[in-house]
This record gives sequence, structure tokens and C-alpha cells, in this order.
Amino acid sequence: MSNKLVTENSQLRTQLKLLLEQAHRNQQIMQRYQEFDLKFIGANSFQELIDSVFDTLTEASELDVITLSLIDPAAEIRRILSDLRIDISDYPNLLFVEDKDGVGEIAHPARKPALGPYNTMQHKRLFPDTVLKPASVAILPLIRRNTLIGWLSLGSLDPTRFTANMASDFLQHRASIVAICVENVINNERLQHIGLTDPLTGVNNRRYVERRLLEEVGRTQRHGYALSGMYIDLDHFKKVNDNFGHQGGDEVLCEVANRIKAELRLSDALGRFGGEEFVVLLIDAPLDAALAVAERIRASVSERPIVLGSGEELQATVSIGVASLDPTDRQDSAAVAQQLLARADLALYQAKKEGRNKVISAS
Ligand code: GH3
Ligand code: MG
Ligand code: MG
Repeated sequence: MSNKLVTENSQLRTQLKLLLEQAHRNQQIMQRYQEFDLKFIGANSFQELIDSVFDTLTEASELDVITLSLIDPAAEIRRILSDLRIDISDYPNLLFVEDKDGVGEIAHPARKPALGPYNTMQHKRLFPDTVLKPASVAILPLIRRNTLIGWLSLGSLDPTRFTANMASDFLQHRASIVAICVENVINNERLQHIGLTDPLTGVNNRRYVERRLLEEVGRTQRHGYALSGMYIDLDHFKKVNDNFGHQGGDEVLCEVANRIKAELRLSDALGRFGGEEFVVLLIDAPLDAALAVAERIRASVSERPIVLGSGEELQATVSIGVASLDPTDRQDSAAVAQQLLARADLALYQAKKEGRNKVISAS
């Protein structure tokens, strides 16, 4: 063999080796992304979904920062999450955008991926001060059924990682998967939320409060903190219906639910138990604190008239029975939960007997 052929041969071998290495690396990358897709598509809850975006995807794509921004003009998504007791402040990389115009200057055209250097003017809302500032970014619009629902924003400290002329099909494909999963998971949570909500007043329903009560009793027994419950019943509600019709009665129920809710903390639970009865669970509140809250609720219902849609006004009142859990009670939690409500109900009965518009504590 001539020298020339030997050299050519060895060059070809080196090239082949490089190509094989590259193929191997690509295969590894594909595998990582496939793992991500599987995990992501399998996510059942918002929590799982967010964890896979922020942990698995960050790792799979070797990025330094990822944020997920969701367009949520009426704060509906945030309300669902808060009702499902997901604390969004635990997720600094999860952002909510009030309106599309607020981010108008970002990613233009907004429906196509935008890759390039980080630019404070354009990107600060997608990478707020609470997250790492990248050097280059890929802003991927999330689109479902022709509607923009948000952006997945990828950031790297490497300024050459994303450049304007880079092919983005692969990233856009990833964003489509994210968009489908985000929509599915939010719809799922929405259904759950509906199943636990009273359609008339928008507060929780009996199923939710009973489930929550069991959870809270268990927690109280493990950690020994206080838990109180109250039964609230509208006084002479039959008369309200008689005088103002069923529609008027419904409006009164909604207004009373709002006034009760206004006196509670986010961690407390309020449910409509039946016709004109509400149950409140006060987390981490001993009897005296619960009595004070009950008194505030009683006063807020009775001291201001309720104005109906028809313009008519009426004065409603409520009676409230309050009971607290004995944290040293070691009985079965279902029995303890039932007793708590039974004692509050008995105190309510006493309040009715003593003339209504009263708060009575269980002995
Ligand atoms: P008390 O002070 O003893 O509680 O008197 P009350 O009239 O409130 O007593 P009762 O519990 O017997 O009556 C409750 C009434 O609430 C009867 C029912 O017609 C009415 N009610 C139950 N559910 C609804 C509802 O969803 N909407 C309306 N408008 N009324 C309802
Ligand atoms: Mg009543
Ligand atoms: Mg009643």
C-alpha cells in the first residue's frame, strides 16, 4: 500500500470513530428525552407534572434554568391549585401571566419558538429575579387547539447554547408534549375540584370537608396541635324562602358563605353540609381562638343587611356550635372526627334553643 493510501485509511478510521461517538452521544440524549417524555406523560397531578418539568427536563436537557409560564387571566388555575392545597410559592419557576399583552414584547412571533441571547427587556418576566439569569434562551410557546396557553422557557449559562439560527423543531416537539400534559393535568385537577365543590356557593362540599377532617384528625393525633370545628346554621331560613322565594334564599346562602369565608384563614376549610348548614374546620386553633372566629362570623352576618339582586334587603342571622378536639384522644381517627362534629352539632342545637343568633361551645 502506498503511503498516501495508508494516510487516507487512517483518516477515514478517525472520522468513522468520531461519527460513531457522535451517534452514541445522540442516542444517549434521545434516551434521556424519551425517559422524560414517559415520566411527563404519566404525570397524574399538577405536582408530578411540575416536578418532572423542573427536575427531569432540566437534567435531561442539561440546562441551567427552566420556567413554565401559564396564562391565567382570571386566576382560575391559581384558585384550583390553592383549593387543592398546592402552595405555588413552593415553585418559583412556575409563573402566572395575567394577560397575553403583558408579555407582548416577549418571543415574537409569540407562536413560534424564539432562540437567542438573554435580553432583559424581552425576557425578565419569563426569568424573574427569583430564578437564575441565563445567557441564552429558548422561548417555546405552548399551544393547544390553536390557543396560546403559556411558554416553556429554557435557559443556559452558555451563551452559544441557543442561537437565533438554530433548528428548533426538536424543541418545539418537546413543547407540544408539555402543552398537552399541562392541559390534561389542569383539566384533571379541575374535575377533582368540581367534585369537591358546592355548585351554588362555590365553597367546598360535604365530601371534601369529611375527607379533610379525617386527614386533619390524623395529623392532630400525630403532632398534638389543636383542631376545632363549627356547625353553622341559618336561623329561620324557611321564612327567608317564604318571603323572598327560593332564588332569594339561594342568594342569601351565597352571601353568608362569602361572609364566613372572609373570616377564615386560607388553611381553614369551609364546606356546605346540607341545605342551609355549613361546617368549618379551624386548623391549629384551640377552643378559645375558634370561639373568637365564630363570634366574628356571627357578627358579620347579623350586623349588615343582605341586599338581594331584586334590590330587596333582609337581615339574616346564624347560630353556631363550636367544639375542639382533645389532642390526647387516642381513639380511632374516624370515631374522633365523628365525635367532633356531633359535639359541635349538639352545641348548635343549644344555640337554637337559647334564642338563635348565638355562639355556643360544646362542653
Ligand atoms: P332554624 O332556625 O331552626 O334553623 O329554622 P330553619 O327555618 O332554618 O329550619 P330548617 O332547617 O327546618 O329549614 C331549612 C330550610 O332551608 C328548609 C329548606 O327549604 C331550605 N333550604 C334547604 N336547601 C336550600 C337551598 O339550596 N336553597 C334554598 N333557597 N333553600 C334551601
Ligand atoms: Mg336553619
Ligand atoms: Mg338546618
